[in-house]
Amino acid sequence: MIPYRTEYLSADPAGLEQAADYLRQGLLVAFPTETVYGLGGDARNGEAVAAIYAAKGRPSFNPLIAHVSSVEAAQRYVKWSDEAERLAEQFWPGPLTLVLPLKAGGGVSSLVTAGLDTLAVRVPAHPTARALLKTLDAPVAAPSANPSGRISPTTAAHVLAGLDGRITAVLDDGPCGVGLESTIIGLAGTPTLLRPGGVALEGIESALGNRLHLREPGEPLTAPGQLLSHYAPDASVRLNAESQQGGEVLLGFGEVVCDMNLSPDGNLNEAAANLFACLHELDKSRRPIAVSPIPEIGLGKAINDRLRRAAAPRS
Ligand code: AMP
Ligand code: MG
Repeated sequence: MIPYRTEYLSADPAGLEQAADYLRQGLLVAFPTETVYGLGGDARNGEAVAAIYAAKGRPSFNPLIAHVSSVEAAQRYVKWSDEAERLAEQFWPGPLTLVLPLKAGGGVSSLVTAGLDTLAVRVPAHPTARALLKTLDAPVAAPSANPSGRISPTTAAHVLAGLDGRITAVLDDGPCGVGLESTIIGLAGTPTLLRPGGVALEGIESALGNRLHLREPGEPLTAPGQLLSHYAPDASVRLNAESQQGGEVLLGFGEVVCDMNLSPDGNLNEAAANLFACLHELDKSRRPIAVSPIPEIGLGKAINDRLRRAAAPRS
């Protein structure tokens, strides 16, 4: 349910409890971190994550950062390593995001990772963010709390200026620190800088014994041992399919006879939540995948964007 007005919560125990409660219900709450205000949704709940995209009006799905309360919490969702340990010891809580191999059965929605087998995790330092994550005891996906294409919010007023009526609540704890994004380090292969940000590289390099790979401008993330930037099924994908052709499996939408259905009711939010899990599942059949037409409205745009990339010829 999208409220008419976004509820304003102050960062006291009652406000934190209410914010956690909304998140448990799969609703969206913006909250302060030391970088910017994040637009939070339960990372285990695909429909909550889809609602983040809808509220921001993002035209495409890219992986989101899962915010957790501690190293122990992170370890429930990712495969930990010595390098992760060294960086976490020094920089968590703080503006450092680590991308690590996803742990099977951790329960994070595949919409958070956009279908990748890695997950970005971070323990924020902001006391209100930490208190909220501790109360909730769940991973929270949280991109910046602004409409797509607008600048990141560093106050609750900025959040409301962009998202009033589009999210359930905003937890206000005054202006955030710097407004700088987190530094992102990929640790699924050779340690690699994926995005510069709030933690300086010198410290990271020394913690890793100078083994940090800095990508050249334009260098793809597909080098051996590196991270793929986008998930795409191995199978070929055919869009706007009204019916199956020889050998194909059909990924349906709405009332259609098919192998798997993104949303039998034609609900775009549900379809977004199911998209990557369905593609992975159908890809196992090693048959070409046909996909029903998806309306080019709301979240349908982001779904179609991802499907078009999956259908594009690959080198
Ligand atoms: P934001 O939440 O908007 O600060 O941005 C999240 C950033 O993390 C994006 O630039 C993503 O591409 C990056 N990211 C998140 N998860 C992954 C992942 N599994 N692999 C590589 N990059 C990631
Ligand atoms: Mg942003």
